[in-house]
Amino acid sequence: MDWDATRALFELSEGVIYLDGNSLGPMPKAARAAMARVQDEWSQQLIRGWNRCGWMAQPAALGDRIGRLIGAPPGTTVIGDTLSVKVHQALAAALALRPGRRVILSDTGNFPSDLYMAEGLIEALGQGHELRLAEPEGVAEAIEAAGDDLAVLMLTEVDYRTGRRHDMPKLTAQAHAAGALAIWDLAHSAGALPVDVAGGGADFAVGCTYKYLNAGPGAPAFIHARPDLVDEVSPALSGWLGHAAPFAFEQGYRPGAGIERMRVGTPPVLQMAALGAALDIWDTVGMDALRARSIALCDRFIAGVEASCPALTLASPREGARRGSQVSFRHPEGYAVMQALIARGVIGDFRAPDILRFGFTPLYTSEGDVDGAVRHLAEILRTGEWDTPEHRARAAVT
Ligand SMILES: *Cc1c(COP(=O)(O)O)cnc(C)c1O
Repeated sequence: MDWDATRALFELSEGVIYLDGNSLGPMPKAARAAMARVQDEWSQQLIRGWNRCGWMAQPAALGDRIGRLIGAPPGTTVIGDTLSVKVHQALAAALALRPGRRVILSDTGNFPSDLYMAEGLIEALGQGHELRLAEPEGVAEAIEAAGDDLAVLMLTEVDYRTGRRHDMPKLTAQAHAAGALAIWDLAHSAGALPVDVAGGGADFAVGCTYKYLNAGPGAPAFIHARPDLVDEVSPALSGWLGHAAPFAFEQGYRPGAGIERMRVGTPPVLQMAALGAALDIWDTVGMDALRARSIALCDRFIAGVEASCPALTLASPREGARRGSQVSFRHPEGYAVMQALIARGVIGDFRAPDILRFGFTPLYTSEGDVDGAVRHLAEILRTGEWDTPEHRARAAVT
């Protein structure tokens, strides 16, 4: 892979070292033209655009392109809504396939929104389900303990704070052996490392496209269902665009064929243009080469920080294979340290209570970026530059 060539495909400002693609990927240069094209379509075609410009068919077409990155066969992935909404759909669909079983098992490392969505769904269903949280290292034992009562194992493969990666095939097989289904959230996996949902046996997978896939703020989420389940799952959110015949305007709901039934309402056409442009880049990328370079960049960062920043402790697994594509360190004043870094143009992020998080994305992160980030971090810690009221003042979005 020519990583200088992929880096040239993104708009990156001079003087900025961007290590936060795990929260919001940078803008692909081609997204401007793609979005301008759709603006022209909108202005000139008006409502005819739904047919003439293929807007209505795009959620499944884009889903298939994401499917290629996560090992999902064509016809099993569709985009739309936000990840939180897709978590709700996957969980509701999975619970409906396991009536009488009570336990939804997740872990304390899961992203809060996934857990909040589970709480809300449990309340709405009113069937006495229980959300049980294991420690990330104790999931296998918790599956055993839940036994016949386990309905769904719902995990995020890569922990948003620490980057710790679950063994998806192993835990999925264990959930299946207990008679349960497995939902995998790939928010920090899709575009970060090779994923094989088919090989791993996932029943459902969900994820977002604005992190490692670089489709922009507010870009739609995706949902995948196992090929032999797509025609029997309940879509849970029975919106008109998941109906078998949306434009027949029938009185009653009938789910559409296959994964199309997981659509809900009108797709985000402008944002889909950016997603399409972002996926064009992914068409050229080998995931194995990406993974090797991601691990090398992360290892380089860990070695540099540990050699020059004694105040920081590694919060991520040391072994590359057990991480996603990010590295986190702990510091009691992590928030202020990160603000000082950002003031110097090194953009990572902070996750409460004490995590400094850095995403390394081979598409546009170079060794020079890694070394620059280490140098700035070491200087900030050595001089105490972070210890000011401005750097301690919390903004609304961290
Ligand atoms: C980023 C992220 C989300 C965000 O959900 P949205 O509905 O897209 O805001 C949810 N779950 C996980 C695991 C995430 O990493």
